[in-house]
Amino acid sequence: MSKLRHKTILLVAAAGRGTRFHQTGMPKQYIWLKGRPLLCHCLDRLLANPAIDGAMVVIGKKDKKFYHKAIELCHYKNKILPAVLGGNDRQASVYCGLKALKKYQPKKVLIHDAARPYVDKNLLARIIKKLSHKSAIIPTMPLNGALKQVVGQGILASLTRQHHHIAETPQGFSYEKILTAHQQQQGRGLDDDAAVWQLTYPHDPAITIMGDVANIKITTPADIKLIENTMSKTISTLGVDMHRFENKNSKNAKMMLAGVPIYTKKNIIAHSDGDVIFHALTDALLGGIGMGDIGSYFPPSDAKWRGVASKIFVKYAMEMMKKNHARLLHIDITLLLESPKITPYRKKIIANLSKLLGLPPTSIGFKATTSEKMGAIGRGEGVMAMVQSTIDLPNEMG
Ligand code: MG
Repeated sequence: MSKLRHKTILLVAAAGRGTRFHQTGMPKQYIWLKGRPLLCHCLDRLLANPAIDGAMVVIGKKDKKFYHKAIELCHYKNKILPAVLGGNDRQASVYCGLKALKKYQPKKVLIHDAARPYVDKNLLARIIKKLSHKSAIIPTMPLNGALKQVVGQGILASLTRQHHHIAETPQGFSYEKILTAHQQQQGRGLDDDAAVWQLTYPHDPAITIMGDVANIKITTPADIKLIENTMSKTISTLGVDMHRFENKNSKNAKMMLAGVPIYTKKNIIAHSDGDVIFHALTDALLGGIGMGDIGSYFPPSDAKWRGVASKIFVKYAMEMMKKNHARLLHIDITLLLESPKITPYRKKIIANLSKLLGLPPTSIGFKATTSEKMGAIGRGEGVMAMVQSTIDLPNEMG
């Protein structure tokens, strides 16, 4: 990492403990949302911009475990520099981060709050562009409502909202100048870096640009709900597969279901190992990312797939999901089979799927039913699996 030319570095303030957020004693930046900690969403959203060369996160000393777990799940973890421990308040923490960045010799720094996970791509691009010829860029939003000075529950004064804006992050600065500013303003407990800048350079005011209303700072549990649907979309897909049994009974006949051998009277006819659950699952996953079906990638006409363990098809689909930043949240399997009874194998099947997909067993539904002797399945001619998957896809809008 240190060999890279770090021109523009993102510094994320994530050392706060979030006193208004009481959930399992975990600071809000590590709370899980859509299958990943909030910090992951925040970092990935910003690091997707190629103009940002790297990121450093300022963390609380009690949060090391949460942090490492979060970073493991980031799509852009190769752009993340070693974390630094923060100080007693936000201002002190950002100063710790700025000092730690010195060895990477950044030209520009974007200072951001981890509690703002959904930064608009265009807003980010505008900040970076403006920062190429200015020293301090602050996104702000004008106030929409009437501005009141409130003490207790009473209104003390009605103020003019003209000239009053709310500051957002990321705030962009020339690195050396903001480092100097922080050095000079230590111990003031200031809310944001624009305030640090303003006190240090009163004759060189920071430039404001229009912020984004969706760039909310998660402060209370209600904010989580507000942002959840903006960040990504959850879709549901279906995969179906059937295989036929041979006509004659065979000694030691078996079929594979989710990688588990099931002892049957007849063998399955298939090019691969004929695992209907894995085949239907592969199709469900490929469907989620618009990649066609299993046959397009592993055609039965190709001799190299003869007799292979179908696990490799699922692994391939999971790889493709990862590449497309899609996350599997849940699967629900329905198996149609006349005999044998699947109940004795149920636990093993779920355990296999849990390991392969990285899903907890509670996120794997598994049901088997007969078709009451009706139709081909009912006559015991074959087996059928339907797999419904729930997938989280990044929201590319904005
Ligand atoms: Mg098949």
